[in-house]
Amino acid sequence: MGRGRIPLPPPPDPRPAREPQVAVIGLGSNEGDRGERLRAAVERLRRLPLVDDVRMSEPIETVAVRTDGPDPDAPRYLNAVALITTRLAPAVLLGMLHAVEEEQGRVRRERWGDRTLDLDLIAYGDFVSDDPQLTVPHPRAAERLFVLQPWLSVDPDAVLPGAGRVDELVRRLTNREGSPAEADAGEERS
Ligand code: AMP
Repeated sequence: MGRGRIPLPPPPDPRPAREPQVAVIGLGSNEGDRGERLRAAVERLRRLPLVDDVRMSEPIETVAVRTDGPDPDAPRYLNAVALITTRLAPAVLLGMLHAVEEEQGRVRRERWGDRTLDLDLIAYGDFVSDDPQLTVPHPRAAERLFVLQPWLSVDPDAVLPGAGRVDELVRRLTNREGSPAEADAGEERS
């Protein structure tokens, strides 16, 4: 038996790099220094691996919503939207959002209770998933002015996959509900 050269194993599949996608993150806080919490969360998003070009909307103030509807006596929310360009897979990105929530000390006393920081994955390019652990686009985004208005402010041509142009959704919700603050009523936050 000759002592031939040991053949090298075939090279691993050169997996094509994931194309960068624009992901839309909804941010909300109704405890403590809400503006600072949102800014700190966006700074954290900027430092995530495979994330760049982070753009944050101006925050807007909205009424807290409980299981039984809007609660004008509860601390009001500050909501904002961040658009990030990322090569993280959607499930990995959502996992990182949860890690940032934990890191920043989110306290969840009850399902619809006050939140130091809530981060939702609103959309991820054209990606669609109905997995309960990863529902994308976010199932209630089309009804939420506190998501759609800040999103529209940073992307006037935004489209919510499966629901249509965000400017059109905002127009319909605003006409239906009257003022934006009232339009927060009647749907649940999660
Ligand atoms: P939260 O209300 O933010 O604590 O989210 C509760 C659950 O919703 C978690 O188990 C998430 O995995 C799940 N979830 C599913 N889709 C989404 C999404 N698009 N954004 C945020 N959370 C999601």
